[in-house]
Amino acid sequence: MGKPHKKLKVWQNAMELYTKIYEITEAFPYFAISLLSLLLMILTPSTLQAWARHNLITKYALESNESYKNSVTVVTEISSDNSINPEYTPIYTNPDFKNNKIDCNRFMNYDLDNGLYYGFEGKGLSEKTSIYEILVHFSDEPDWGMDKNINLSFAQKLMAGSQGYRHMYYPFWTFHLPYPFIAQGEAPERAQHFFDRAVEEYKRGNTYAAYRELARSIHYVMDMAQPFHTYQLPLRLIQFDSPFNGTVQAIKNYHFAYETFVANLLQMEDCASGGMLSKSIKDAEPLITNNSRDLALLIARRSNKIAKRLIPLAIEIFGKRFNSAEPQSLTESEFKELLNSNNKSMREFFDLTQQTLILASGGIKGLLDLFLRVS
Ligand SMILES: [Zn+2]
Repeated sequence: MGKPHKKLKVWQNAMELYTKIYEITEAFPYFAISLLSLLLMILTPSTLQAWARHNLITKYALESNESYKNSVTVVTEISSDNSINPEYTPIYTNPDFKNNKIDCNRFMNYDLDNGLYYGFEGKGLSEKTSIYEILVHFSDEPDWGMDKNINLSFAQKLMAGSQGYRHMYYPFWTFHLPYPFIAQGEAPERAQHFFDRAVEEYKRGNTYAAYRELARSIHYVMDMAQPFHTYQLPLRLIQFDSPFNGTVQAIKNYHFAYETFVANLLQMEDCASGGMLSKSIKDAEPLITNNSRDLALLIARRSNKIAKRLIPLAIEIFGKRFNSAEPQSLTESEFKELLNSNNKSMREFFDLTQQTLILASGGIKGLLDLFLRVS
C-alpha cells in the first residue's frame, strides 16, 4: 500500500517543480533555465527578521553613549513614505504588550511565538522620549510589515518576496540565483533611502521623525551583518524530493534556528546584566564610511565571508533534523544542550556570531557617526 502512495508524492513534487519552471519561463522567456539550475534555485523565507532582536543589539551599541539618553524630545507625527506598503501604518506603542513583555525565565521561540514586538514599548503621541529610546525601539520597525506585498523585482521570487528583497543583499561576484554574480537585493539602497529622509527631517527641525527614520536606516545596515541575509544557498540543503518548496523550508529552518539561538543568548545576557556578546557589541568600533549605502555594502561583503563558514557550522550544530522539507524549530531543551556543548565547532560558531554582532554594532555606530557629520 505504501508504494503507490510514495510514487504519488514524488509525482506531485515533480509537478510542483514543473509548475514553477512554467511560471518562470513564462515570465522570462528569454532566460532559458535548465532543470539543473532550477534545482539549485532557492527561496529564502518571507517572515524572517534577520536579527530577531534588533532592539537589543541597538541597545548595547548605544549604551555607552550618554548623549543619546539625555536628549528628550516630544513625539510628533512622522511623514508618510510612498515607497513602502500603503497598507502599513507606523505604530508608536506595542500593540501586543502583555504578550510581549520580557520574561527572563522564558525561552522565546521567535518562529512559533509572536516575537515581533518582543521588548518593544514605545511612547504614545505627545509623550516624552529620548533619542536612545527611539533608536532602540524602532530599529525593529522595518520587520513589522512595511516592505511586504510590494512588486519590486523578479528576483524577489527567490528572496522571500519584497520584504526579503529589501532586507537582503547578495554582493557582486558571489553565486546566487536568479542572477548569479551580479548584486541582488535592496538593503543598501533602503539604508540610504531612510538615512536621507532622516537628514531631511532633522534639517526641518523634526527631531523625533528624524530619529525614527534613522532607526529604519539602522535596521537595514544591521541586516547586512546577518550572514543568512548575504549568502543564499548551501547546496547540501537541496531537498531532492521537494526541490523548490522543500529546500526553501530547509533553509528557513536553519535561518530561524539561528535567529532564535542568538536572540535568546542576547536576552539571557540582558537579564543577567552582561555577557560576552553584549560586551562585544558595546566595545565595537564604529565603521567609518562616507554614506550609508557604502556602509551597508562594506558590512554585506564582510558578513558574506563569515557566512561561508558560519552557515555550514549552523547546519552541523543544529543538526540533521532541520535539514527537512517540513517546518522545524529550535526547542528549549536543544538550546540548553547547545549551550552546554563545549566542542570545537560550537566555539567557532560562537566566535563567528560574535564577529557578526561586532559588524552590526560597528554599523550602528558608524551610521550615527555619519549622521552627526552630515546633519
Ligand atoms: Zn530585516
